[in-house]
Amino acid sequence: MKRFKSCNCIEHEVVLDYKNVVRHCSNHNLNFGGRPIIYDYFDGNNLTKEEFFKRKWIHRKLFREGHSLSNCENCIHLSEKEWGDDNYIDFILLTPWSECNSKCIYCPVSTDEYIKKHTKKYDVYSVIKYMAENDFFIPETIFDFAGGEPTL
Ligand code: SF4
Ligand code: SF4
Repeated sequence: MKRFKSCNCIEHEVVLDYKNVVRHCSNHNLNFGGRPIIYDYFDGNNLTKEEFFKRKWIHRKLFREGHSLSNCENCIHLSEKEWGDDNYIDFILLTPWSECNSKCIYCPVSTDEYIKKHTKKYDVYSVIKYMAENDFFIPETIFDFAGGEPTL
């Protein structure tokens, strides 16, 4: 198997972010941006496994060919090893900046009107259910909740 530089986020992670963006990661790569995008706009409808992994592979292929993404340059999460070609998600972050009943005093989620105005809410549960029923996940997959309470 060939060794090349890639990142687990590019290979096997997904972030359902605010403003209806779907990303490979939510990591800020300080000099180059980070947070590369899988879908510019996702409203919860018409998700298919084929289309999702086709989009993941646009960037997975780049790394296999020895390239990178400009916003991933020099990121500490890049690692050179023998990456496999299987399609699965081992980490999913739900961070829609929706309402949150905790309302922690330091958190801008409940008060950021700009993000709320530019985020169309959708049924996250149906998306996760589709993913689960269509074998996106493995037994070790981590589900992370942040930036609001996505199940409200
Ligand atoms: S290399 Fe860094 S910025 Fe790029 S997807 Fe991985 S964690 Fe995110
Ligand atoms: S999103 Fe997290 S930090 Fe913000 S109010 Fe909810 S629990 Fe607190």
